[in-house]
Amino acid sequence: MQKRDKSFGIQMLSVQPDTKPKGCAGCKRKIQDRFLLKALDQYWHEDCLKCACCECRLGEVGSTLYTKANLILCRRDYLRLFGVTGNCAACSKLIPAFEMVMRAKDNVYHLDCFACQLCNQRFCVGDKFFLKNNMILCQSDYEEGLLKDGYGAQIR
Ligand SMILES: [Zn+2]
Ligand SMILES: [Zn+2]
Ligand SMILES: [Zn+2]
Ligand SMILES: [Zn+2]
Repeated sequence: MQKRDKSFGIQMLSVQPDTKPKGCAGCKRKIQDRFLLKALDQYWHEDCLKCACCECRLGEVGSTLYTKANLILCRRDYLRLFGVTGNCAACSKLIPAFEMVMRAKDNVYHLDCFACQLCNQRFCVGDKFFLKNNMILCQSDYEEGLLKDGYGAQIR
């Protein structure tokens, strides 16, 4: 995860009847409910603290919110938009979640890295590729090599 990305806890507080109602950071109205949420040093109606993407109520989803570029997001959307998919099995560098990736077995690859590791041939949708000892191989290199213990798959 990148350094500037942040997750914040959400607290559910019960409103003491004798305290002055707090203003909601979402709708700016006073919070008259029995419960309110405290997050990002602000107070929120339970209905007003929502994910900017899927509009789920963040007070229920696991009591953590994520912010990025002034958006408040649930964990799922945050990871989908800004998280990290994993490390590329070919170059070992991180792959951001919003980037297109190739998947083979349990591995993910940058699009640029997904090529036969012997002859550098790229694959198109429908092409056959093979994984051997975690190396991506084209059909001819695979067939030239040992034919046993192989793993074949097709790009969909
Ligand atoms: Zn509100
Ligand atoms: Zn969401
Ligand atoms: Zn890569
Ligand atoms: Zn090849």
